[in-house]
Amino acid sequence: MTVKANRLFINGEWVDSSSGETFEVRNPANGEVIALAAKGTREDAQRAIKAARFAFDEGGWGDSKARDRAELLWKVADLIEARAEEFAQTDTRNNGKPLRESRYDVSDAVNQFRYYAGLCTKPQGQTYDVPDDISAMVVREPIGVVGAITCWNYPLVMNAQKIAPALAAGNTLVLKPADLTPLSTIMLFECLEQAGFPPGVANLVTGPGSVVGDEISRNELVDKVAFTGGTETGITIMKNAADTVKKLSLELGGKSPNIVFADADFETAVDYALFAIFANQGEVCSAGSRLLLQEEIYEPFLARLVERAQKIVVGDGADPETEMGPLISKEHMERVLAYIQLGRDEGAQLLCGGNRLTDRGRGNGYFVEPTIFAVDRQDLRIVQEEIFGPVLVVQKFTTEQEAIRLANSTRYGLAGGVFTNDGAKAQRVIRKLRAGITWINTYHPTFNEAPWGGYKMSGIGRELGTYGYEAYTEVKQINVNLQVQPIGWFRE
Ligand code: NAD
Repeated sequence: MTVKANRLFINGEWVDSSSGETFEVRNPANGEVIALAAKGTREDAQRAIKAARFAFDEGGWGDSKARDRAELLWKVADLIEARAEEFAQTDTRNNGKPLRESRYDVSDAVNQFRYYAGLCTKPQGQTYDVPDDISAMVVREPIGVVGAITCWNYPLVMNAQKIAPALAAGNTLVLKPADLTPLSTIMLFECLEQAGFPPGVANLVTGPGSVVGDEISRNELVDKVAFTGGTETGITIMKNAADTVKKLSLELGGKSPNIVFADADFETAVDYALFAIFANQGEVCSAGSRLLLQEEIYEPFLARLVERAQKIVVGDGADPETEMGPLISKEHMERVLAYIQLGRDEGAQLLCGGNRLTDRGRGNGYFVEPTIFAVDRQDLRIVQEEIFGPVLVVQKFTTEQEAIRLANSTRYGLAGGVFTNDGAKAQRVIRKLRAGITWINTYHPTFNEAPWGGYKMSGIGRELGTYGYEAYTEVKQINVNLQVQPIGWFRE
């Protein structure tokens, strides 16, 4: 069945693309077209940006009160929750991820709106004890118009984690979701509309990154760009945003190390090593895609890991038995398979997987087996480059120093994990990892309360938590004279 989703939300109204054109949205489990989305144009993006500018400067939203914004955000959370199962089913159908993951994403998005509804009414700013009868203080103010550009691996959450803090802090917004997964975003904007945000405060323009995203990152009326996606795209956006000195936050790629010492709890570490790379089909920026094993446990650990990886049930995310879904698109599947071929060509040892799965009704879907390579060289491209799929590279290390050196030897610095029963060693190693999101004896749990973001080429700035709120604010110092009289600096 084809769902008609071909609408943009601009200045409080659902409208067609100015070109009248649409693009196809598919279910990656079977390749079928499930919707037609509006192919927004540069003019659509400009109109949305102007609406957001007007709503901020003249429409009153720039002077809105935190308590009123909190109330609206809380309503959004309730509205998402009321449609929770519909949201989950939509993301599974559009993204492919297993339903249990989509359901988790929905609760995460609901919590983001509630978290920021609460946070925006809490105390903020500072006062200073300064000389000269001056009362000095700092207040936080909204930045203005935010342009948000997002990717497809967590379609609902990625958008919620930008919309909620941006609006909570009093900004207006134009959002461009990933072309591959616009459906839950359209539903999310239905919730924003229903909650009662004034026209122009939140605008949605679906369409190509090279057109709509490009306009958002260049347009002089946009004050900040918040981007989640690949590092190369992030670099392009940063360059395009430079001409108008926009504020930027970039959540980019990763190639994160998961280090297991010989003294770790064996079964726990195996279990998390699988979860680290194969959750969400490996389409996770923070995936533990490089497993570093201490030599004493290298052989038994690999044997157990491969045994369990081969048992992972790969299928349509809508099937409750499914543990790992399809990759997002045919193009992405082909890219991942090309990396697997590259690994073979580079001389890495393929331990399991490596193929597209086409049996048992999976023929038209974009399914790839959980794949594990053993490698002994740090300079291989499959060690250095982000594959963004179910492909794990395993390396052996001897000493703590070697583990740290290998862990830090890529251009990325998003996440990392350490498994050991030696508490002091765990802390020592984690402190040495050049990464923004880290775990000890676990992998992947993250919370809306804590900051999310990367070192090195994994990004700039932080989302989520109080850091992610501050990222949508400007800082203003105010100096108040407590003795209102002439300064007398110049003779009369
Ligand atoms: P992508 O960079 O291709 O696309 C991301 C978004 O940017 C899409 O909406 C796309 O349409 C838009 N875009 C593309 N070209 C553009 C341009 N020239 N100007 C403006 N916008 C443009 O990334 P992707 O393939 O959708 O996502 C995968 C990448 O995202 C991976 O590298 C992954 O690690 C990263 N990611 C990072 C995080 C994080 O929090 N750090 C989270 C999820 C995904």
